[in-house]
Amino acid sequence: MDWATFISDLNGIEVITALPQVAKLSEDYFRFSPILEPILNGKVGDIVVRPASEAEVLQVARACVKYQVPLTVRGSGTGNYGQCVPLHGGVILDITKMQAVRWLKPGLACVEPGIKLAALDKKAQEIGWETRMVPSTVRTATVGGFIAGGSGGIGSIMYGQLRDRGNLRAVRVVTLEDTPRAIALRGDDVQRVNHAYGVNGIITELEIPLAPAYPWAEAIVTFADFMTAARFGQALSNCDGIIKKMVSIHATPIPSYFAALRSYILDGAHCALILVSEADLDPFRALVGEYGGNICYEKNAQDANKGTSLVEFSWNHTTLHARSADPSLTYLQSLFPNDPQLELVQHMYGHFGDEVMMHLEFIRMNGIAIPAAIQVVRYSTPERLNEIIQYHEEHGVLIANPHTYILEDGGMKSINYEQLEFKRMVDPYGLMNPGKMRAWMEVR
Ligand code: FAD
Repeated sequence: MDWATFISDLNGIEVITALPQVAKLSEDYFRFSPILEPILNGKVGDIVVRPASEAEVLQVARACVKYQVPLTVRGSGTGNYGQCVPLHGGVILDITKMQAVRWLKPGLACVEPGIKLAALDKKAQEIGWETRMVPSTVRTATVGGFIAGGSGGIGSIMYGQLRDRGNLRAVRVVTLEDTPRAIALRGDDVQRVNHAYGVNGIITELEIPLAPAYPWAEAIVTFADFMTAARFGQALSNCDGIIKKMVSIHATPIPSYFAALRSYILDGAHCALILVSEADLDPFRALVGEYGGNICYEKNAQDANKGTSLVEFSWNHTTLHARSADPSLTYLQSLFPNDPQLELVQHMYGHFGDEVMMHLEFIRMNGIAIPAAIQVVRYSTPERLNEIIQYHEEHGVLIANPHTYILEDGGMKSINYEQLEFKRMVDPYGLMNPGKMRAWMEVR
């Protein structure tokens, strides 16, 4: 490929060609997985292009079609499974210059995809609202990257997951057809590109719903045994009268990996990391008392806004801290079935012991609070990791395998024909993030 000719077709859109920078912008957090690490290591794009508007995205799309060059979209590169790692080189489309808030009104925001979630929250809070859910990477991740590559997070205990109807209202996507264009999708049609790793459209604008902004207080509650901590998590999640945003439960020794919190949590304790409406602290404390927990850390909403938030110890930040202490550790992502007594959680906790350290994140699914889990795993071999996954699946725990970059082999498990059909239309040459969608490769 003659990249100088390609670049001259871009009419002055910002381009990065320096190899170290291109290599850096080709990576995400796939190194959390010992399976993905050797496969994705060294996969780099040829150039990075940084459009500032939808018109510039269209220009890049035209050049990619003309020269038949692969294009991989990148937000902040915090994905965990190499979603934005280019398997076949080509253009990395860095979307982070597109940060505009088009409009905001009570309950709804329209934004460009490169705005960071924290920046959107700040804007929305000016009118008393905030995003319904954010990943623990809220400070760095983009709205577009969260929709295309994420699943849910802090707030999911109230509002479910990104895939749930209502949690994404409209998108505009640029195509890689012979004559690229921008298509507007609304209503259920948004599912064509929701969580599709950017294989079937470059998102250039999104309408996302907002939630009322509460003053979020933070607390750490410790327990002498793990199952009491887990049952407290279920009870708090079920408690309709207490407004909460995060119910994150950790079995020992996970809390020992939280260096910044070590002075609060006694050695050997199991803990719950909680975000709760400051106005609901009294009933919250009463529930803690009922379960014999000990509140060892509490910050009102104003103080919680200063310094490090407990958010950055939850969801996959837990794995980040664990791996900082011991880089040989890895993780799983699971969804336990509705099981109010948490018998399956107890079974897995007892069965695997220290090899699969229990970390639960309660979420709301179809109106019911259930535990998702991002267990920290002591990795030994690929075979053993597969055995652990298989054992969970045989017992009815859904594993969203984080050790694959293939869309269907991760969370979805089956082919999404709606997304495949849409790809057929908008990316007839298969140039978008090639190698990530199994259905497309099989059809080919
Ligand atoms: P990127 O990693 O840049 O991209 C993600 C995917 O989206 C890629 O396939 C990319 O091609 C595609 N994409 C990006 N922008 C566009 C666009 N404009 N149009 C089309 N496709 C696009 N995830 C969660 O869901 N919840 C969590 O709580 C969570 N916690 C995390 C904690 C840590 C420590 C880490 C490392 C990751 C975590 N993640 C979590 C994963 C990741 O942070 C989220 O998925 C995040 O939202 C990705 O945003 P990003 O801007 O970094 O996207």
